Amino acid sequence: MKMETVCPICYQRDETSMHALWRCSSLRSVRSVLCVFRKEKTLDSIPFFDFVVSCKEKVGSLEFELLCVVWRRIWHRRNHMLHSSILLPETGIYEWAVNFIDSFWSANKVENPDSMMASVAKH
Ligand SMILES: [Zn+2]
Repeated sequence: MKMETVCPICYQRDETSMHALWRCSSLRSVRSVLCVFRKEKTLDSIPFFDFVVSCKEKVGSLEFELLCVVWRRIWHRRNHMLHSSILLPETGIYEWAVNFIDSFWSANKVENPDSMMASVAKH
């Protein structure tokens, strides 16, 4: 049995985790808003795990939290496409992630997430 490996969204590249979660051409505007890396071309050959670790080293905890939620939403968009053949707009990914984080912090009534993280780190 041959596994289908081509990206179901762009049909241009194999669907590695790095491609599906960051490098797909359909994610261009999401990458441009977040701009974690300037030399994007070097990312084609690294594993997604290494990319996540390097992001953690380059950004603060709040930005990293946003990146994680963006990746979650990108994966949701990819699965939505696979299961319903409807591609959710790329333009909504970043805004959805920001709103998700805002709602999370509001629901938890945390006014300053940095101070909360500091108190968590003490325990
Ligand atoms: Zn793709």
